[in-house]
Amino acid sequence: MGWETAHAPRQAELDACVTCGLCLPQCPTFRLTGSEAASPRGRLAAMAAVASGVATVDDRFEQIMGLCLQCRACEPVCPSVVPFGRAMEGARAEIAAQRPGSGRRVRALLLGRGLGSRQAIRLVTFFAALSQRLQLHRLPLRLVARITGLRRIPFTGGSHIGEARPAAAPRVGTVALLAGCVQDAWFGAVNEAALELLTAAGYDVTVPAAQTCCGALAAHDGAVADAERLASVNVDAFAGFDQVVATAAGCSAHLAGYGEWTSGGDEMAGRVADVTVVVARAIADGRLPALPARHAKVAMQDPCHLRHAQRVTAEPRQIVIAAGYEPVEIDDTGMCCGAAGVYMLAQPDTSDELGRRKAAQVRAVEASLVASANPGCEMQLRANLGSGYDIRHPIEIYAEALRGEST
Ligand code: SF4
Ligand code: SF4
Repeated sequence: MGWETAHAPRQAELDACVTCGLCLPQCPTFRLTGSEAASPRGRLAAMAAVASGVATVDDRFEQIMGLCLQCRACEPVCPSVVPFGRAMEGARAEIAAQRPGSGRRVRALLLGRGLGSRQAIRLVTFFAALSQRLQLHRLPLRLVARITGLRRIPFTGGSHIGEARPAAAPRVGTVALLAGCVQDAWFGAVNEAALELLTAAGYDVTVPAAQTCCGALAAHDGAVADAERLASVNVDAFAGFDQVVATAAGCSAHLAGYGEWTSGGDEMAGRVADVTVVVARAIADGRLPALPARHAKVAMQDPCHLRHAQRVTAEPRQIVIAAGYEPVEIDDTGMCCGAAGVYMLAQPDTSDELGRRKAAQVRAVEASLVASANPGCEMQLRANLGSGYDIRHPIEIYAEALRGEST
């Protein structure tokens, strides 16, 4: 039967794999299971089998693809530069097209329409805040237990949508800030830090009112029409700015791949940067100050979509050092924490195991302050570390140090 959609895995992507196996030790699901079918090479082989007509998009195919975290740890080590994340998005698009069940339709509604709707985010924010106040996470329900990883959120959520702040230093350019679907409502302090730091570094910063969710979660789940629609809205909303900056690593990685999702996406992708890159550059240029050392440690957690998808590792550390702290490594390989968007709900056992392992890595370095540049990772860390740990975005750590608020 083969493929049915324009986003399907491409033959050149599949042919690029020379089956060397170098990616296997990097893959979290292979490391957990030891199974070839749970490895990048095995998943590419399964895609190739469908492409050649030897296999179909059936239960087994869906199972093999569904266990993938889409962490892209397999990409940096691949000598053939197989674009695994792109191929996996294509495989998910095929599963959604060929096996449209009611569960998938509900997910598409939530990830595509729900995250793209400010009214829906406000409603969810209210109930999430209420759940926190009522301490519902104490109930023996796995789904509800996930709210333990959230910061304490206000009932109305935060919002910087529509704001425009002028440069507070000699002007070097314009920035459009992606507010993010839940980033602004639930992690508003991160966007506030971005606005403060970017204006202090000489940027006119706008949070365009016409923007929407970046569409990463929809794309990862195969909800192609929604991913395309959201990308198209954002390409229009972010036109005309020198740079488009996102404060969540998952969002900046997805914006950088917009060429796949909409016309004009390639042009916009060329202007996209993660906030850690822009702030670190401003520190290096002397547009933002480096503070004196305070001899306190920060455990560095690399979100997969920063480290593996965008190859950004130095910048968060440079920011933490500029804040006066000593960055401490927790994991040389950058193994996924298991959050992975909706993966923590779809594959809770694997997600929990990876979350426990990541927490153990943090505990081993004895640092109570943890830097993470992605909200999903932050939630996973907080849920697994428990009390006694403070988990912040690197730019928050730096902004708080500049304000003199650090403890
Ligand atoms: S994206 Fe991550 S989980 Fe999926 S195959 Fe690659 S390394 Fe393994
Ligand atoms: S490292 Fe690249 S070429 Fe080698 S098996 Fe993995 S995906 Fe294939």
